[in-house]
Amino acid sequence: MTTPARLTVLAGPTAVGKGTVSADIRARYPEVWLSVSATTRAPRPGEVDGVHYHFVTDDEFDRMVADGQLLEWAVVHGRNRYGTPRAPVEARLAKGEPALLEIDLQGARQVRASMPDARFVFLAPPSFEELERRLVGRGTEGPEERERRLATARIELAAEAEFDHVIVNDDVARATDELIATMGLPTR
Ligand code: 5GP
Repeated sequence: MTTPARLTVLAGPTAVGKGTVSADIRARYPEVWLSVSATTRAPRPGEVDGVHYHFVTDDEFDRMVADGQLLEWAVVHGRNRYGTPRAPVEARLAKGEPALLEIDLQGARQVRASMPDARFVFLAPPSFEELERRLVGRGTEGPEERERRLATARIELAAEAEFDHVIVNDDVARATDELIATMGLPTR
């Protein structure tokens, strides 16, 4: 078994299934804490403030950046800002509890610069065509936003070699098992 990672950063392109895989991990390992990001994006139907994201205004986000409250932040898909609140992550790490960040490539690079001991995992689609199919299939974005996200996805996929581990999400349960092993969590 791999040495337990305290901080794991999970990155990967839009619609690859990062949310599904991390929800699957949380269901099986409730002790793994998943960071709740701040974002300037509007909530989607069903998203709950403080659970899926902290939905903040541009001014609030500016303040968080100015006050150094974010461990990393980035403009994602050329549109909204997303960032990881620093204090909750530091509190988990101080207690030695496993923490998971689900963030984009730019954020992962920033965390690598400030916390090089973290474990960096890239979740990849079986193919670009499959990624397009998943994005269309989930139906949460219109054609313009989909194109924007696929453009980011091309950039992200080209950076997969920067990561410690690449996991292909061909099957959620299998990909989750691989992430569990990568994080050094006990088999359950
Ligand atoms: P969505 O709008 O679909 O919820 O998320 C869009 C993208 O933002 C995803 O690729 C996700 O990984 C990224 N993201 C979510 N939270 C954060 C964060 O705190 N920091 C960074 N850098 N990216 C994030």
